[in-house]
Amino acid sequence: MKRSSAHRPFVVVGGGVSGLAAAATLVGAEPASGISVIVCEREGELGGKARTLELDDFRIETGPVTFLDDTPALTECIRAAGLEEERVRAQRVAGRRFLIRAGRMREVPAHPLRFIRSGPLGLPGLLRLLAEPLVPRAAPDRVRDETVEAFARRRLGARAAERLVTPLVRGVWAGDPAQLSVVSAFPRWAELERTHGSLLRGMLAGRRGGAAGAEPRELGSRAPSSFRGGIEALPRALAALPGVEVRLRTTVRSITRAGQEWRVEGSVGPPIEAAGVILAGEARPMAALLAPTAPRTAQALRTLHSPPVTIVALGYPAASAARFPEGFGALAAPGAGVRLLGTLWDGRIFPDRSPPGQLLVRVIYGGSVDPESAALDDDRLAALAHSELDRLLGLPEPPRLSHVIRWSEAIPQYDLAHLTRRETAEEELASLPGLELAGTALSGVSFGKAVEAGTAAAARLLATRARGASAPGPD
Ligand SMILES: Cc1cc2nc3c(=O)[nH]c(=O)nc-3n(C[C@H](O)[C@H](O)[C@H](O)COP(=O)(O)OP(=O)(O)OC[C@H]3O[C@@H](n4cnc5c(N)ncnc54)[C@H](O)[C@@H]3O)c2cc1C
Repeated sequence: MKRSSAHRPFVVVGGGVSGLAAAATLVGAEPASGISVIVCEREGELGGKARTLELDDFRIETGPVTFLDDTPALTECIRAAGLEEERVRAQRVAGRRFLIRAGRMREVPAHPLRFIRSGPLGLPGLLRLLAEPLVPRAAPDRVRDETVEAFARRRLGARAAERLVTPLVRGVWAGDPAQLSVVSAFPRWAELERTHGSLLRGMLAGRRGGAAGAEPRELGSRAPSSFRGGIEALPRALAALPGVEVRLRTTVRSITRAGQEWRVEGSVGPPIEAAGVILAGEARPMAALLAPTAPRTAQALRTLHSPPVTIVALGYPAASAARFPEGFGALAAPGAGVRLLGTLWDGRIFPDRSPPGQLLVRVIYGGSVDPESAALDDDRLAALAHSELDRLLGLPEPPRLSHVIRWSEAIPQYDLAHLTRRETAEEELASLPGLELAGTALSGVSFGKAVEAGTAAAARLLATRARGASAPGPD
């Protein structure tokens, strides 16, 4: 049965958290208006990167283990999903972070005095870091073309760049600071320099709730959270909202314009005549869908590199579990003497991830610096992960569970071409009302930013619809 144009559904491509946040925004905007949304998801499960597996009494996240409440859109989404009461904060001990250098793992002291006495920088590196407020502000044109590494060296000094910023970039972006653009990947750092002339001054002002309100979130205002039962609770609850229909194992193969509407062809079922479409998949498949209608955006997305990331989840019995310190996990600095990018101790962050006395940890490989690790098979990766942890901690027993999760297109790398890429896409898509891009291809790669991109795309679609409804009819 053909639906009249007023009742055509919206289609969202991709059932990750971004696509589902978009769907929730569409159906939640005017609950009485009868808006319906069809979410097409290629895989047999929802959640995209944000899924939670239950294996042998361990609860394993396939991607994000925590999120920071760094956007109002995320707070609103949690409310719309009815999950406010289900939200859980990380254990206090998760505030402790470790760094791996020269084959050893050491805590990075959070307290300024302890950081000064025994932090990873040594006296020269520390003095250089403390001199940061004296470094002159660079011209915005220069910062626009600056990598994260060059920015960090210029402002914080070579040691802090290597021993603090590089591990952070590996941990958050699985990226290479010499490739990433500071204004695109860490926009708040560039903004702190612009508004306060200094990162340290800006951070202090943020802590004091300064007038500028610039908070150094990427640098550490941490209140990591998840949900009882795991992070997948959010995508699952959003998908269950009235008006949202999910079609799993449905790969969208093409999107074509049909007058004011869009024709969406999937791998299953007849084509859908849609009032509008939100693309919320990874950059490469979305580039293929955009090629016929938005060729410049498609080309821009094709050049967005997202290297593979592999996670090895290991469940340790009691004797080995006891060897892991209380803390969030450890990141590897250059020359760490290990291949892993970082390790997260999920069972320390949230006790419900492991059976009592045992411990779930995850070890992360790949990213821009080591894409070759994706070629290792599961057994070799599991053995490598255990042997690297064993060398660092001396583990008396092997894991009783190991499980490998592979992402071939994990986290997009916002390189120096990204500002132009983003401008190109935004300009071209603005001329195609009813077609929107969400996900992490353009404006942020965290869980919260993915939600924000989804809700913003939905808001633009609703605005287009409202303009269409108020435009005079043909007669
Ligand atoms: C290993 C890892 C760890 C992370 N850790 C954290 C963390 O601790 N904290 C944090 O804030 N963020 C973290 N992130 C980032 C966060 O997970 C992502 O930003 C977020 O989940 C992305 O959501 P999304 O919906 O944009 O994309 P995805 O989750 O990638 O979803 C896209 C979906 O689109 C589907 N799709 C693609 N093409 C098609 C098509 N043609 N038709 C139908 N469906 C299609 C895919 O199957 C997929 O399900 C991590 C990411 C990774 C990879």
